[in-house]
Amino acid sequence: MLTIQNSINLTQLNTLRLNSVTNHYIQLASLEQLDEIAAIIADYPRYFVLGGGSNLILPENYDGLVIHNQLKGITFNSDKSAYKLVTAAAGEIWDDFVANCLANQAYGLENLSLIPGTVGASPVQNIGAYGVEVKDFIDYVTVYDFNLRQLTKLSNAECQFSYRNSYLKNKPQYLVVSVTFKLPTTAKLMISYGDIAKQMAEIDNPTANDLRACIINTRRSKLPDPAEIGNAGSFFHNPIIAAAQAQKLKQRFPNLPIYPSANAEQIKVSAGWLIDNLGLKGTRSGNIGVYPKQALVLVNYAIASKDELLTFAREIQTKVYAHYQIQLNIEPIIL
Ligand SMILES: Cc1cc2nc3c(=O)[nH]c(=O)nc-3n(C[C@H](O)[C@H](O)[C@H](O)COP(=O)(O)OP(=O)(O)OC[C@H]3O[C@@H](n4cnc5c(N)ncnc54)[C@H](O)[C@@H]3O)c2cc1C
Repeated sequence: MLTIQNSINLTQLNTLRLNSVTNHYIQLASLEQLDEIAAIIADYPRYFVLGGGSNLILPENYDGLVIHNQLKGITFNSDKSAYKLVTAAAGEIWDDFVANCLANQAYGLENLSLIPGTVGASPVQNIGAYGVEVKDFIDYVTVYDFNLRQLTKLSNAECQFSYRNSYLKNKPQYLVVSVTFKLPTTAKLMISYGDIAKQMAEIDNPTANDLRACIINTRRSKLPDPAEIGNAGSFFHNPIIAAAQAQKLKQRFPNLPIYPSANAEQIKVSAGWLIDNLGLKGTRSGNIGVYPKQALVLVNYAIASKDELLTFAREIQTKVYAHYQIQLNIEPIIL
């Protein structure tokens, strides 16, 4: 049975702590509710699925229906092969799930430790950190299709994962119900990434748990905790530009960090460096500012609105474009 609530404040349900109220709200706690929701969503002008609210820019008034995913449950297959198939319901908290996998000798996700949010959102933007993307370990994603009113399995290939993107992004007809991961039962640690490599080199015979601890410490030292200060992690994508343009930029700015991308003719450039190099780290306008320890993160010092945040973000985009002729794109989903 569905309980639809009206005028629900979402300020504490988004990690940017943007001031926001939705006209209508439901908690999704069981699969049986999905057909009922499918039957009523046409009555609303719009809807979206809310997970942990850590990658969202919410409007002051959302004139629609928020479906707050609370589906829970994790199953580990018990066979003793080289891989474990692990299925987690979409409403599970991502970092608790990573810890649970390690405790069950299912490895690979440790580099993605402490990313906020839910399991269900992880394939939507193909979360990634420290040289690993979640797509590397997803076997398939089970979605509920609001148009067909049925569950469908999307294979890894069908999800069309790319950098912070997938087939599921901006497709409201799909609600991720669960994600099935294929995780090796023997840990192969991914420790090539700068800071992490240095710290891990000091540990004899490091384990996946050591790597998780190292990632958690590093993240805590660099990123603001949303419980203390509103933010959505990286606010801009690292731009992917033509290799020739990257070479020219590298001549102008020899310290600019650049990385290979999936396409050999394109190069990924550090958006944080572009912003930091303009002296914008720590700057602030009203309630919104650039986090003093990490230029890629915008923070909300009080309870700002979407407009205030986007005005500040546009100023950064304009300055970056004027100086480097690179367009920065906003990473969180704007509603
Ligand atoms: C401090 C901080 C650090 C971060 N670090 C990283 C990082 O290192 N790497 C990284 O990739 N991201 C990072 N993020 C961004 C964010 O944590 C991820 O994008 C996360 O996966 C969002 O999960 P969520 O449950 O909060 O999704 P939400 O913000 O609730 O939703 C995000 C989008 O996914 C959709 N969605 C959510 N759940 C479902 C579902 N079940 N079915 C269909 N659609 C759904 C929503 O409709 C929305 O479009 C960080 C954020 C913060 C605040």
